Amino acid sequence: MQLSIVIPLLNEEKSIPELYQWLVKVLEANQFSFEVIFINDGSQDQSGKILDALGSQDSRVRVIHFQKNYGKSQALHAGFLKTKGEVVITMDADLQDSPEEIPELYSLINQEGYDLVSGWKKRRYDNVLTKNIPSKLFNAAARKISGLSLHDFNCGLKAYKSEVVKNIEVYGEMHRYIPLLAKNQGFSHIGEKVVKHQARKYGSTKFGAERFIFGFLDLITIWFFSKFGKRPMHLFGSMGVLMFLIGFMTAFIIGASKLYKLWNNIPDILVTQNPWFYIALSVMIIGSLFFLAGFLGELILRTQKNQKRYKISKTVN
Ligand code: UDP
Ligand code: MG
Repeated sequence: MQLSIVIPLLNEEKSIPELYQWLVKVLEANQFSFEVIFINDGSQDQSGKILDALGSQDSRVRVIHFQKNYGKSQALHAGFLKTKGEVVITMDADLQDSPEEIPELYSLINQEGYDLVSGWKKRRYDNVLTKNIPSKLFNAAARKISGLSLHDFNCGLKAYKSEVVKNIEVYGEMHRYIPLLAKNQGFSHIGEKVVKHQARKYGSTKFGAERFIFGFLDLITIWFFSKFGKRPMHLFGSMGVLMFLIGFMTAFIIGASKLYKLWNNIPDILVTQNPWFYIALSVMIIGSLFFLAGFLGELILRTQKNQKRYKISKTVN
């Protein structure tokens, strides 16, 4: 199979039929063999029923129903596991991303040999204050930190080589920086393509102004993950060792001068009257705590690997 289209959605009942028809029209016109995987991320409206109906009349439509709303990253993760196509395309369900882009995205992966091609909504039709400006800031910072020269990390429309989606772990809110996850897994041929973007036709956005805060926090996470995500001990351990050494050296100097003065019968203050004693003590304690944080980080990383992060209630096709 050539193409797997992965579409996470939450309460998009109005858009689904139109999106399905548009997709099928474009994909059939280009004679692709394909599947469309919808992940119903706990919708409260008729989305689930509409998807089941589509699945029963068209076996190329495959549906994953989540038990409840787990978020876009979890939905993508579940979709990625199910894909059979050589090239995987992700897109939003709200008709903001255009299926017309798919043939070109496909050939960028298949012919030009890209591992990942990210869409770039160069002209964007979203709220300027809550979306466009924070998103520009987020992307600028993400570029700096990741070393990837992408304009639009968070674009829903992306194309991947199958290997890429099978090898990255998208969870939490990490759908915002999938290109970085791919890069961290060693997929370095990452490109971007300007894509058409439209204003939302039906329903409302699921992400609001909270992006101001989340975007910034995500950024710190990006930095931490790309540098120390796999080895928290490297960060905390080295900080811990450094702190501990400073404390230990200070204590050593205090002890040595004490001995020297004792030896030569020079009168000296009590150790507890020396402020440096307390500094040495606290620095050593903080150092040990850093170490502990490193160990806990490693421990969490290990246990999380085997954990299911979402519960699927039903699948179709
Ligand atoms: N979405 C989802 N789970 C969520 C939130 C959103 O699957 O918890 C889907 C949503 O239905 C849409 C896509 O993710 O298909 C992008 O969401 P939205 O259009 O609200 O984001 P925006 O375009 O405003 O950034
Ligand atoms: Mg949208």
